[in-house]
Amino acid sequence: MTFVPECADYVSESRDQAVTLAEPLDGPTVSRYRDLARTLGMWLSVGGYHEKPPASEDTSRIYNTHLLIDAEGMVQGVYRKVHMFDVDVPGGVPSYESSYTIPGSSIVPPVATVCGKVGMAICYDMRFPEMAVSLAQQGAEILTYPSAFTVPTGMAHWETLLRNRAIENQCYVIAAAQVGRHHAKRSSYGNAMLVDPWGTVIAKCHDTVDVCVAEVDLPLLHKRRSEMPVLSHKRHDIYGHVLNHTVLPVDSQSEYQFGAHVVKSMSVFYRTALSVAFANRKPVLPGHVLVCPVRVVEHLVDLTAAETADLFLAVQSVAEATKKHYRVSSLTVAVQDGPDAGQTVKHVHVHILPRKPGDFADNDDVYKCLEKHDKNVAPKEWRTDRDMASEAAVMRIYFKFAQ
Ligand code: AMP
Repeated sequence: MTFVPECADYVSESRDQAVTLAEPLDGPTVSRYRDLARTLGMWLSVGGYHEKPPASEDTSRIYNTHLLIDAEGMVQGVYRKVHMFDVDVPGGVPSYESSYTIPGSSIVPPVATVCGKVGMAICYDMRFPEMAVSLAQQGAEILTYPSAFTVPTGMAHWETLLRNRAIENQCYVIAAAQVGRHHAKRSSYGNAMLVDPWGTVIAKCHDTVDVCVAEVDLPLLHKRRSEMPVLSHKRHDIYGHVLNHTVLPVDSQSEYQFGAHVVKSMSVFYRTALSVAFANRKPVLPGHVLVCPVRVVEHLVDLTAAETADLFLAVQSVAEATKKHYRVSSLTVAVQDGPDAGQTVKHVHVHILPRKPGDFADNDDVYKCLEKHDKNVAPKEWRTDRDMASEAAVMRIYFKFAQ
């Protein structure tokens, strides 16, 4: 498997150049890398290229996108850099990456490759240990930090950061890197390297255009992890949990449990590893949807800390989309915890309802309706699967990767 650095296509001299030379995922640059992988029969990590967003998005900026391409030339992983390098450090040239780059919105679950499960990141992401922990928790064996690292920050931090991410997550770290002077305003630190899970630098490029090679020894990695199981020694109860609050494809599971009910994936429009949001079978108002933990849990107090945090982050995301879609400025967000509070489905769930002026004679009538609307309902009064699926299809548009 070959790893090439960030800016694999070009290092731009200006904001305009970064945007105008960008190409979509099906453009000629990615096609050529796919041909190359197929011709060589080799996996490729194209560590970062300037991706032109689809026409439906903000086309005045790009994505900084890392691709994994398999030996048949198929794209197996697409990661859009989430942390923007907006910094001004002494001795360096100020950088405002977000002025021409749209930050990505999710961490990509590790991709199984020919040399292990690869967690995808880019350059500045290496300064955020939570992201590495999230990838390791999701099974990453190799963390990748393809980079175009600046010289002053590289001299001070490059090797230390990479070795730290390797040691604390017991992962291999592979960091392909741009090197040398690109143009008047930009030089890169180089020092591309591979680090093993013990923190040893096992291969390193010279201070010039270069290639280095190392072997990834997965049995050794798992031996190290079993000798010192730091991942399972974490005290989430004391310092909290790094969440994998990534929006996942909703159709990867055909149905979800909602108390004793089954919710078909076509009614679902948002899901993470721990939470799911779906259309309501008997809404009190149009746009009344439900968010619940994936695990069937009866009471709020029975949720783990991670489930609680994830559920309320999910509620925030769904609330934002609901406000946009129904063009409202207010929502009723309610949890009925226990039968005396009107809960009929024994599974923690959050009701989200878009509210408009005058939708009830008395504002708090909404709570009376919430308590009564699904009691003694004749089967023909429930909405059809088709009806709920079309509502979910509309709401999915608001959540990238949920489609
Ligand atoms: P509660 O009465 O607070 O427990 O709320 C249960 C909510 O779930 C009500 O708004 C129902 O309309 C809704 N509901 C019940 N069964 C289903 C189902 N199978 N799919 C979608 N929504 C459901």
